[in-house]
Amino acid sequence: MAGLSDLYQEILLEHNSKPRNFREVVEPTQSAEGFNPLCGDQITLYLKVVDGVIDDVGFQGTGCAISRASASMMTQSIKGQSLEKAEEIFDAFHHMITEPGGELDLDTLGDLETLSGVNEYPTRIKCAILAWHTMKAALAGDSDGITTE
Ligand code: ZN
Repeated sequence: MAGLSDLYQEILLEHNSKPRNFREVVEPTQSAEGFNPLCGDQITLYLKVVDGVIDDVGFQGTGCAISRASASMMTQSIKGQSLEKAEEIFDAFHHMITEPGGELDLDTLGDLETLSGVNEYPTRIKCAILAWHTMKAALAGDSDGITTE
């Protein structure tokens, strides 16, 4: 994808080819489905929350490189975090992706900054945000799932 720096592309492709936590979680406490009809990205997200902490997280599904890489990075960033922290990371990511040119909370974002270039591609924003909205739905107990439309 033109516009993303080489380093960013490399990290993205690496997550796409070897997605982290790409598996079902044993005895999840929450799960939700997400679907992005624009691109055909589909994700099932599993969470295991113990004492207000995301003890385990995994995802399955099919989709484009951006949706897979974003889901992979999301699972990495929220695993082991408190629910409040996961919410904070969601907000920072959402802000980064939907408000180009805004100030980034780099401390909270960490590696997720890699996906910041996506906000220049309106059609790809839904790919990048899919896993995140699915996480919100799962935490809200909305197992019917979400669609980005
Ligand atoms: Zn996609």
